[in-house]
Amino acid sequence: MIGAVDIGGTKIAVGMLDREGRILARREQPSGSDLTLPDGLRLIFAMLRETAREAGGELEGLGVGCTGPVDALAGTLQRIEFLPTWQGCPLTAELQTAFGVTAFLENDADAAALGELAWGAGRGAKRFIYVTVSTGIGAGLVLDGRLYRGVEGAHPEIGHHVIDPSGPLCSCGAHGCWESLAGGPALARRAGLPSALAVCQAAEGGDAAALRAVEQEAYFLGLGIANLVTLYTPDVIALGGGVMRSRGLFWDKILQTIRENCGLVPYEKTRLVPAQLGGDVGLAGAAQVWIKGSQPVD
Ligand SMILES: [Zn+2]
Repeated sequence: MIGAVDIGGTKIAVGMLDREGRILARREQPSGSDLTLPDGLRLIFAMLRETAREAGGELEGLGVGCTGPVDALAGTLQRIEFLPTWQGCPLTAELQTAFGVTAFLENDADAAALGELAWGAGRGAKRFIYVTVSTGIGAGLVLDGRLYRGVEGAHPEIGHHVIDPSGPLCSCGAHGCWESLAGGPALARRAGLPSALAVCQAAEGGDAAALRAVEQEAYFLGLGIANLVTLYTPDVIALGGGVMRSRGLFWDKILQTIRENCGLVPYEKTRLVPAQLGGDVGLAGAAQVWIKGSQPVD
């Protein structure tokens, strides 16, 4: 069995999975900026030991998906907004020392893309893009069955490509990047409601202002996806994340925006599909990080 660790901005999930992606045992704890590195490591190690005992199999290896910038090749964490004291942590080395098995680390969007590729919406696709739309927009890109990496293993930040340079300033320093225009907070702001979920519920109830905000959200989501179709024309693009639980509100407008903006590529051959793994994508993705990482490079 494979140990999986999913480190997010608000929670840390840990689980044991078999080679078919079935979750045999799982634990979850809140994280947050007050969680120090030593406490965080103790927590992760304890949850791994508990789930390993519960699942009862032999631990083959450990995979990690982590929010924010990570050095996937070195297995270290970089400057993560939600976990400031974790910067520089050699996480895979710590795990290998504690458990005596190999460990691999990826950015969480890349991990989720690998999970959906193996066990979800991307099965069978050679060129696959996974996009998660929640507080932020994250994406992982798979080309010819392999995760795409930038220079020195860098994770390309597709959620921060600029859609409208006259748009709002993002924490990344750019104006009008995709996340700043189509992330959950942008949807909430447009409707003047506290959360994207509240906007979706109001829109489903027929509220006119919420429906207008949803229409704009779908347009900006569609523009970013249309850019991905024009740039890569992949076999499949899968959409996941909290906002996409209400995908019925956005789907037609996204497809319309693709049709209107992708005139030079066979956009109709790129299948736009909902992600399939739902709340399990973090653990499934982390398990795939180990499976992919432990395969010999051809
Ligand atoms: Zn940005």
